This record gives sequence, structure tokens and C-alpha cells, in this order.
Amino acid sequence: MSSGATGTAREAVVVRAPAKMNVHLGVGPLRADGFHGLATVYFAVSLHDTVTARPGEGLSLRLSGEGTGTASGPGQVPSDRTNLVWRAAELLAESAGVRPDADLEVAKNIPVAGGLAGGSADAAATLVALDVLWGTRAGREDLLRLAAQLGSDVPFGLVGGVALGTGRGEHVSPVLAAGRWHWVLGMAGEGLSTPAVYGELDRLRAEGRVPDVTGPTPPDPVLAALRAGTAAELAAALSNDMQPAALNLRPDLRRALRAAEDAGALAALVSGSGPTVAALAPDEQGAVRLAAELAGAGVFRTVRAVTGPVPGAHVVP
Ligand code: ATP
Repeated sequence: MSSGATGTAREAVVVRAPAKMNVHLGVGPLRADGFHGLATVYFAVSLHDTVTARPGEGLSLRLSGEGTGTASGPGQVPSDRTNLVWRAAELLAESAGVRPDADLEVAKNIPVAGGLAGGSADAAATLVALDVLWGTRAGREDLLRLAAQLGSDVPFGLVGGVALGTGRGEHVSPVLAAGRWHWVLGMAGEGLSTPAVYGELDRLRAEGRVPDVTGPTPPDPVLAALRAGTAAELAAALSNDMQPAALNLRPDLRRALRAAEDAGALAALVSGSGPTVAALAPDEQGAVRLAAELAGAGVFRTVRAVTGPVPGAHVVP
């Protein structure tokens, strides 16, 4: 995570920002502050956005790739100051007492509103890039504190790998993972708004259609499976409390999950708040086969074979 920079960089600083999945997502009841208490296990995968920071006068932001057209809606990325990248730049400048001068460029590869925390990854990458460009030399604790102010998933964007997330997800601690796993991510249809999926989960719990809870489901089975390192053990331990809510809002996802299992996935689950489906393959070749099969199944808009864990936001030399 550390930039290792000395002084202010004059050239472009390029940072890779990985997508995340949740191999465990335990969601507690709605808290008085409007958030849900989480016990989640984040897992960074090899699907990246790229954030480039160059010297500039004031802040400017250019976007390219996924979700960067002119339409608006949950599947679209704003290019104004509501973009998390812009907010990250302003927050770091304010905290470091420097002028927010930078020309920022984000090349998006991570599907927008897909439950892969692409916006959070971009924000984490922006903190890393501007820390180098501006020579602010924020320490790890400072960057994590700023990241938590930007959003619950942003601190994990800095840490990467596999990590336990508690609180509303912003307290992250690394988890021992003794393996490399191969996944196929399938994007089905339009994006889902994360608050809408939380709202649906609260409704289903209030109506007794899914069991009510006093706290988030503990992550112990998945932590043991990650230590053991086999794909079969991880497949048996995957869990996501948000899944029933995402399926209720998007019934077509049931077919997508079934298609993944029929095509040879050891297990498939909705990633975060969805609608991306994450299918665990037995090995690397299995992931290539699974991706090919699912690309032809007609249930996904895009299919990507990925691996992980991978490091969090890092400068590309
Ligand atoms: P969350 O991180 O809330 O779980 P998600 O992973 O499903 O969400 P994101 O791709 O992070 O989805 O985008 C969620 C919303 O954030 C989008 O609808 C978009 O309008 C807004 N947004 C702001 N900045 C960005 C960004 N840099 N990239 C993508 N989306 C952004």
C-alpha cells in the first residue's frame, strides 16, 4: 500500500485498483445510524480499473470504459464532483493542507453497480496516486482513516488480498489465505443499487420471509476454508446474507446461479449486493472452460475469468 515516494512526482502516477468479491457477507440488523453491522470477508480479484494522476491546475476528471457513456442511472459513472475519485482527491488535499491540483483519468473495467466495489477501488487508488503525485506522505493509518470517510468498502481497496471487514465493513484486518482460487464473474443485466438491496433485506426480515438476526452471521467457516486452501472447502463455506434480497429484486439471477453450477462451478453466489454472480472453478483450466461455457449460455451480458487474491491499490512502475 505504501507509495515509497520521495518528494513530489512530476510525471503521471498510474495505480491499479482491483475489484472485490465477498466470500462471506454477514449482515446484521439496521443500526440507528442507518448502516448495517457487517462481518464480511473481502477477496480482491484480478479485474482492475486504472487511475492515472498527472500534474494539473485545479481538479479535472476524465473517464473511459465501463459505464462512462452519457446516460444516467445506477449503471453509470458520474464525471463531476460526486464521483468518489473526485471526493477522494478533495479529502486528501484538505487533510494534507495542499491545493487539489491534479488531472485524473479513470479507465473503468470493473462493471458499475455490479457488487464489485469498483467506485470504492477507484477512490482507494486515487488516494494512493495523489499521495505520490503531491508528495503528501500520508501514513497507512491516515490513508485508512480517509478511506473510511469515503465509504465502507474503500479501506479494503487499499489493503487488498483477503481481509475481514467489521463495523460497517470499514475496519479491515488481513486474513490468512493459503491458496490461489479461480473464479468466473458473470454480469447479468443492469446494475443493482446497494441501498435498494439492503432495503429489500430489511423488508424480507421484517416480514419473516428470511430469518431475522441479532448480529451478522460469523465468518468462521470461510476463514477455516481459506486457511485450508482447497477450492472444494471454500466452495462449501461461501455465504452471502444479501443474496435472498438480490434474488427477490432480480429473479433472473436464480437462473444465472443455476447456469454456473450446471456448467461445472463448485459453487456460485451473488457477489456483494449483486447482480454479479461469482462462480468458483476447481482450478485455472476449469475457470477457462467455465467461462467459455457461460459465455455461450445466454444468461450473462459479460463473463470474465479472474484469479485471486491480488494486492490492493498499487502504483504500476
Ligand atoms: P457499492 O460499492 O456501493 O457496493 P457497487 O460495487 O455495486 O457498489 P460501484 O461500481 O462501486 O458499484 O458503483 C456504485 C455507484 O457509485 C454507481 O451507481 C455510480 O453512480 C457511483 N460512483 C461514483 N463514483 C464512481 C466510480 N469512480 N466508479 C463507479 N461508480 C461510481
